[in-house]
Amino acid sequence: MSAFVTRFAPSPTGYLHRGHAFSALTAFEAAQVAGGRFLLRVEDIDRTRCRPEYEAAIHEDLAWLGLDWETPVRRQSDHMSDYGAALRELSERGLTYRCFRTRREVAEAIESAPHGAMEAFRGAALPPEEEARRVEAGEPYAWRLSLDAAERALGGIGGLSFLEEGEGPNGERGAILARPRLGGDVVLARKDVGVAYHLAVVTDDASQGVSHVIRGNDLFEAAHVQRLLQALLGLPAPTYCHHRLLTSPDGRRFAKRDGAQTLRELRASGMTPDSLREELGF
Ligand code: GLU
Repeated sequence: MSAFVTRFAPSPTGYLHRGHAFSALTAFEAAQVAGGRFLLRVEDIDRTRCRPEYEAAIHEDLAWLGLDWETPVRRQSDHMSDYGAALRELSERGLTYRCFRTRREVAEAIESAPHGAMEAFRGAALPPEEEARRVEAGEPYAWRLSLDAAERALGGIGGLSFLEEGEGPNGERGAILARPRLGGDVVLARKDVGVAYHLAVVTDDASQGVSHVIRGNDLFEAAHVQRLLQALLGLPAPTYCHHRLLTSPDGRRFAKRDGAQTLRELRASGMTPDSLREELGF
């Protein structure tokens, strides 16, 4: 078997629709062509939005589509201590800070940056006494990555790059210079959840030995930040293969919030897996 390992990593916050089917089939077929491995990963860190029936449906719908995957399936909620360890490592090296700001305060800070609006939030740790007082008072805080500290730790982030074998939203491919500044000081651990998307994904991709990250190009920008986190944590950099987003005949992308027809609805209406695969170009 080749060293090719890829994954499909849905969040069980709703039923899967055509867009998910396209993404899962893209990853699954790539693994087959490469003689590699295909993993399913359940990204369920946000316990308030995830539901067991959606998780069960992911398994059911993907099996209906004709996919199979290795077991046991990694569920992020079972690995909170791994993410905690990664966060501690970064914090012990002075690469993070506590951020007590509300969403609104973050938006205001972006708007009122001294040299004109920033693209994304950049902040800093509070003075130690104020921080200690607010922690003591039980005020909730997120942990953010300090780009300034990251830059110092790596002796500059200008030389970081990742390999794109698919295509970003503007046709980006090949060796891509990582521009983590686009994302600002990203949240590594949310106030409510204790971890956040980028840190969980980077930790999981490394511990699962994912060689190829295959996913929709709405997550292309995420690769810039994720590459930085890999460098800081000493993790291998996977190859990225972002794919186009599937759009409906009227040119809109499929999305849960637009009420895209779910795979279960398609199935109930008599669609067969073969006809869906064909419609999606597989
Ligand atoms: N869980 C993410 C989503 O459902 C995908 C994460 C990834 O592929 O990196 O959009």
